[in-house]
Amino acid sequence: MPAGRFAPSPSGEFHLGNLRTAILAWLFAKHTHRKFLLRIEDLDRVRAGSEAEQIQDLAAIGLDWDEPPVRQSERSELYLDAVDQLRARDLLFECFCTRRDIAEAASAPHTIPGHYPGTCRNLSASERAEKRRERPAALRLRAATDSFQVHDLLHGDYRGEVDDFVVIRNDGVPAYNLAVVVDDAAQRIDQIVRGDDLLSSAPRQAYLAGLLGYPIPQYIHVPLALNPQGQRLAKRDGAVTLRELGTEHALQLIFDSLGLPASLPRALEVFDPTALPREPWTIHA
Ligand code: GLU
Repeated sequence: MPAGRFAPSPSGEFHLGNLRTAILAWLFAKHTHRKFLLRIEDLDRVRAGSEAEQIQDLAAIGLDWDEPPVRQSERSELYLDAVDQLRARDLLFECFCTRRDIAEAASAPHTIPGHYPGTCRNLSASERAEKRRERPAALRLRAATDSFQVHDLLHGDYRGEVDDFVVIRNDGVPAYNLAVVVDDAAQRIDQIVRGDDLLSSAPRQAYLAGLLGYPIPQYIHVPLALNPQGQRLAKRDGAVTLRELGTEHALQLIFDSLGLPASLPRALEVFDPTALPREPWTIHA
């Protein structure tokens, strides 16, 4: 059975914006008769206690999931299998650049801002051996394009940047883009609902999925919650967590912002993706 998912990083307590995205992911999955899965993206940015707290919050707002949650930290083999596949096809290269090297090289004329400038792409074997003595290498994908188009249910066709992005960091940890793509395919997730701050990652992920022979999922990037200054909502923006607002009040605010009745089962009955707000949700806490 196909599935949708919510894939939080356990980096802190959820705020209204995160909870709203989780509710939307659940509504989209159920509305389209998919399973709903929960995946804990704990390869980095982990804060102790946060996973349990997040799971508790999701249960408190009434969400349920159809399989036990999985943790990325327990799935290294899957990511390394994918890396082996890419390596066997000569699609990876070692990169020894620091962030600073990249920023400096990328500021040269004729480079695309934020784009990996290709510094280590064509190092010779002896250059690599030399550099390995100084720093451990990250592994980057040898991308054969600099952009890729995806389709998003809310944003339509979206073409975005693809560069030689990192698949294994230089501390040996699989990078976010690799882990997400491998997990979504392994879990048969074919519908991705998440905040639209990640829309610009979708082309890289879809391109990688294609290289690995995986189907490309349906993308639904939903508007973020903002503070009154127009910045992404953060916990410091006031009373924005379940604990601060109380579950009932928080749910009322979220469902009101979506134009839906304030109960999950009733919201599901009337859920209409075409009627969703397309603008960010500004919260005056
Ligand atoms: N773990 C990511 C985050 O919490 C989301 C990844 C995704 O949905 O693809 O920002």
